[in-house]
Amino acid sequence: MKDNVLKIVNECGSNCTLIAVSKTKGVDLIREVYDSGIRDFGENKVQELLSKIDLLPNDIRWHMIGHLQTNKVKDVVGRVYLIHSVDSLRLAREISKCSVKKGVVSNILLEVNIASEESKYGFSVSELDTSYNEIKDLENINVLGLMCVAPNQSGSENRVYFKKMKKLSDELNLSVLSMGMSNDYKEAILEGATYIRVGTLIFGKRDYDIN
Ligand SMILES: *Cc1c(COP(=O)(O)O)cnc(C)c1O
Repeated sequence: MKDNVLKIVNECGSNCTLIAVSKTKGVDLIREVYDSGIRDFGENKVQELLSKIDLLPNDIRWHMIGHLQTNKVKDVVGRVYLIHSVDSLRLAREISKCSVKKGVVSNILLEVNIASEESKYGFSVSELDTSYNEIKDLENINVLGLMCVAPNQSGSENRVYFKKMKKLSDELNLSVLSMGMSNDYKEAILEGATYIRVGTLIFGKRDYDIN
């Protein structure tokens, strides 16, 4: 495990950070990855995330990477380092409202449905600009950048989508770009990812996939 982690970190270079996606995995395994030097971990379910936060070292930066329901926003705001999966104006408004109430500023990314897939969450490319302009003015929210989950196919096939993401990010003058998973992280790095989110390659296959 450690060798895998160090290899991927090395491939990231200095402009990109590896997020170890620990969903469905237990705290003992997570601690092993932590001990190899990783401090960024990603989860996609609120309850699972909260239970792990309490059991693991408090210098971990927790990333919420899964679809977030508005009624769970209050449980997440103030507890995570970055919310990657903001996929609607309604959700962004709720994060803003909750952040004001708690007296915190929430860092968020806007999720883009870059390949226009029926099964995926995210803003369409055509609505991104307008949505960004509304969301960036909400109180107690910092829109740091963009995120996507590319189609479930090879990295060479997804490279075109990563290129599009980088272009959108540059057009909006944003600095954070979260893209690339076990199957396509190398191409994501080549196209300018600043976070890659890798689960399977680090932790092994998941018994069940809850995403
Ligand atoms: C599960 C998940 C990942 C990691 O996927 P792997 O293929 O296991 O590397 C990355 N991003 C999101 C949003 C996920 O839900």
